[in-house]
Amino acid sequence: MSYYETIVGLEIHVELLTKTKLFCQCPNVFGDEPNTNKCPRCEGLPGALPVLNKEAVELAIKAGLALNCEINPESRFDRKNYFYPDLPKGYQITQFYEPVCRNGVVTLKSGKKIEIREIHLEDDAAKLVHADKLFVDYNRCGVPLIEIVTSPDFRTPDEVTEFLEILRRAFQALKISDCKIEQGSMRVDVNLSVHKADETLGTRTEMKNMASFKAISRAVMSETARQIEVLENGGTVIQETRRWSEDEGVSYRMRDKEDYHDYKYFPEPDLEAVILDKSYIDKLRDELIELPHEKAKRYISQYGLTEYEANILTSLTEISVFYDKTVEYNNLCKDNCNFILTHVLKIMNEQGLKDIPVSPLAFSRLVKMVHENVISNATGREILLVMFSDEGRDIDPMEYAETNGLLIVSDDGVVRDAVRSVLVNPSCKKALDDYLKGNTKSAGFLMGQVMRALGGKGDPSVVRRIMNDELEKLNGNVEE
Ligand code: ZN
Ligand code: MN
Repeated sequence: MSYYETIVGLEIHVELLTKTKLFCQCPNVFGDEPNTNKCPRCEGLPGALPVLNKEAVELAIKAGLALNCEINPESRFDRKNYFYPDLPKGYQITQFYEPVCRNGVVTLKSGKKIEIREIHLEDDAAKLVHADKLFVDYNRCGVPLIEIVTSPDFRTPDEVTEFLEILRRAFQALKISDCKIEQGSMRVDVNLSVHKADETLGTRTEMKNMASFKAISRAVMSETARQIEVLENGGTVIQETRRWSEDEGVSYRMRDKEDYHDYKYFPEPDLEAVILDKSYIDKLRDELIELPHEKAKRYISQYGLTEYEANILTSLTEISVFYDKTVEYNNLCKDNCNFILTHVLKIMNEQGLKDIPVSPLAFSRLVKMVHENVISNATGREILLVMFSDEGRDIDPMEYAETNGLLIVSDDGVVRDAVRSVLVNPSCKKALDDYLKGNTKSAGFLMGQVMRALGGKGDPSVVRRIMNDELEKLNGNVEE
């Protein structure tokens, strides 16, 4: 018997971070008092005409460039007609025939390519609030959305999650969208079908209402199992829209899936075509920053970081920009990373900081001092804390370490003097006698005394070497 294969395509709606809505001047803000941001245009009152928001078009193009799309030099808007209480106009303004971006591609870690069919611009519907009655909040009505449509290229929940993670990190870094899936600024519809490898494609269903990546992953597994069960029992899968219930871990049928002709699309008569100059698109392309997932890939291959390290460093643009500069200065990829991961992020977290107040140059010098054993790791953290404070912002770490006596003592002469003074100290006599009788444990105590004599700044490897040397002399194992 042959196994079932799962085929998944995604439709992802993302709210754009514009200041105003797509076709009017109302503020685009999440969480305001209901129905405070609305006007005749977004309420769809008779005679109100849409005016296209340029910022929204720009963010849609940036999204397209980030996903390696072709940018359509002449895109257009169309009406998608349907009635629903959250849609006062009676239609959605979207791009059906000429979307702004087409033919993109995203490459997963495995090298597998996910094709982006198109990205189109459209206005969001109002938000229905189900309480004792049904309420409509028009604040969301007319908020700019892009819809990203992929080819059915996914085969596993992990591929879906990895792709969405790439998308979310890219859009956040480019300030296209905050992609808060739990707040609805990123909404993922999963189109899924199953079939046996040697048979034709199955009927697909569409799943909505997943509020986290984990929920999406669960929904993919659950729907795969459900469809296989239907087929194995001799039934047929019905083309329908299903609603995921995270609490129950199952989905419910919402409605038959509409076909595109049900919406009677036609060109929007109130808006002109969006004509884009090549020079304008080129300018946006030039401004594109290296995206988090590309950066992470580079950190792994070029700098030898682990995937875990690379993902953390690229989780915030500010951190990765800082890290890049420090590597430029001192070329210590791993050390800088370790220092950021173990100290910087912790201090930022403790102090509630969003950005690093330390100069990358001073930081790179500090890490180099630790790397070259000029100061200990603990001292490095101590100086870093000073650098995080207002007074310490401009200090030079080397100068600071010198004037405050924080340098590691690795000078043989200085260390030998300290070792000898400890070994002749009456308070250490017992430990020394024990050691000479063969109790090697007391060497630890003596080491500690020497480190203390050196103010905690002794280079442990030098202290250990000279201590052994001096003890062996006393043991008579070495002739002078
Ligand atoms: Zn408005
Ligand atoms: Mn849509």
